[in-house]
Amino acid sequence: MPDWKQELIRIVGERGYLDRPEDLRLYEYDGGVDKGRPEIVVFPRSAQDVSAIVKVSRRHGVPIVGRGAGTGLSGGAIARSGGILISFARMNRILEIDPFNERAVVEPGVVNLDISAAAAPYGYFFAPDPSSQRACTIGGNVAENAGGPHTLAYGVTANHVLGLEVVLPDGEILRTGGFWPDAAGYDLTGLITGSEGALCLVTKVIVRLMRKPESVETFLAIYDSVDDCATTVSEITARAITPAAVEMLDGSMLQMVEEAVHAGYPLGAAGVLLIELEGVREAVAEQAAQVRQACAACRAQEIRQARNEQERQLLWKGRKNAFGAIGRVSPFYYVHDGVVPRTKIAPTLRYIEDVSRRSGLAIGNIFHAGDGNMHPIILFDARRPGDIEKAQKAGFDILEYCVDSGGSITGEHGIGMEKIHLMDRQFSQESLEMMRRLKMTFDPARLFNPGKLLPERQPCPELRQPPVTPGGSLPC
Ligand SMILES: Cc1cc2nc3c(=O)[nH]c(=O)nc-3n(C[C@H](O)[C@H](O)[C@H](O)COP(=O)(O)OP(=O)(O)OC[C@H]3O[C@@H](n4cnc5c(N)ncnc54)[C@H](O)[C@@H]3O)c2cc1C
Repeated sequence: MPDWKQELIRIVGERGYLDRPEDLRLYEYDGGVDKGRPEIVVFPRSAQDVSAIVKVSRRHGVPIVGRGAGTGLSGGAIARSGGILISFARMNRILEIDPFNERAVVEPGVVNLDISAAAAPYGYFFAPDPSSQRACTIGGNVAENAGGPHTLAYGVTANHVLGLEVVLPDGEILRTGGFWPDAAGYDLTGLITGSEGALCLVTKVIVRLMRKPESVETFLAIYDSVDDCATTVSEITARAITPAAVEMLDGSMLQMVEEAVHAGYPLGAAGVLLIELEGVREAVAEQAAQVRQACAACRAQEIRQARNEQERQLLWKGRKNAFGAIGRVSPFYYVHDGVVPRTKIAPTLRYIEDVSRRSGLAIGNIFHAGDGNMHPIILFDARRPGDIEKAQKAGFDILEYCVDSGGSITGEHGIGMEKIHLMDRQFSQESLEMMRRLKMTFDPARLFNPGKLLPERQPCPELRQPPVTPGGSLPC
């Protein structure tokens, strides 16, 4: 066993690591399609442990990758270059719920939904709610700057992180931000949020808690035409209403979800919008009338309203369990993530249909329509030769279309190793160069999450093992 592994074991103890091949296999994946096996997985219990582990990585030149729950969809938590995978599963304590200052202090391995559960008795919740919120961790949310259905009204994770404790690539422990909303100086908290584990490792997070709204109303608007369904989104915002959420499911997704979840979704519709309004009772009632008018103006066939919390939860259960439902229909699927201006949702859906026809692969759509954040889900069978390449090409064609439409290659899932080669479609060479300089300021040895986020001019640090990406690894 190499010296660096022995040093790591001395830090985390005999029960604080995994390195048998059968265990490491379980850490080859995240929620995306790429793979890469670490040489060891370590489970620190404190920032001091993380710092000591990082110092070993630095001394021996071994790459290091952070991991929350592994639900990421862009290959961020994959040990692309082998080396150390640092799992935050045992740093999962909620350290403080402070309703007086509307803050919580949590460790990075805390599951997203557990923050809201802990805050609920005080009348508060944590607003960022990725659909994976029953599993994903706050560390992963911070690293990806995660969004979710309620991003439309509440913003993304960055809008709810007030301070961080992080371990830098030299092992130093740094605190940024704090309990106050607008700290002076450069916004290091903002810089680190969304940096995909490539600048530092997060060991503590101070988050903002939101007061539960007085009134919540949830609607399901049902359509015969995908175009009408998509057009409703901008029709609502044109009336100066910002719902808490506007989610869209197309006909194929409705079928898959309803068969698995029995959420009461209509079979045979071309598409539905799940619309949620929140606020003070009178304002919500007024907006509800406007939303009904907007849906009717776009020829909604029917508008249902949840009559109680149970019906509301059932509607959301369909939305939040959709990915699991797809697994019943297709052995493999590829979830993409691009953004278009919300006025361009309808043509983008038509383009996706074209891509589906051309590639011969079925593509369903379930997405955060209010933000124009598209999630085409490409069904394929990796056991069929050529299918994964077709799925990858279909996804990249769609992302290029998003950029050409004035949008972005990611809304919330990050770049990871999946979209690294598309960065120059989105950013100018000057912007990329600035990002590289920033990376070098934090991580001159380039050991933190190598081969992710930023296309490098120099080759990646030595690949310590051949990549096992099903479709072949993407260029650095
Ligand atoms: C069914 C499903 C639904 C989803 N829905 C949404 C959605 O609605 N919105 C959304 O934004 N995303 C969604 N996602 C994607 C994913 O859940 C999010 O990106 C989430 O933030 C990842 O959290 P995680 O704990 O699983 O992180 P991981 O996948 O383990 O890691 C993600 C990234 O974070 C880094 N990282 C993890 N912990 C740390 C740490 N402590 N310090 C530094 N870096 C760290 C990793 O290195 C990696 O780069 C969904 C995924 C699935 C499978």
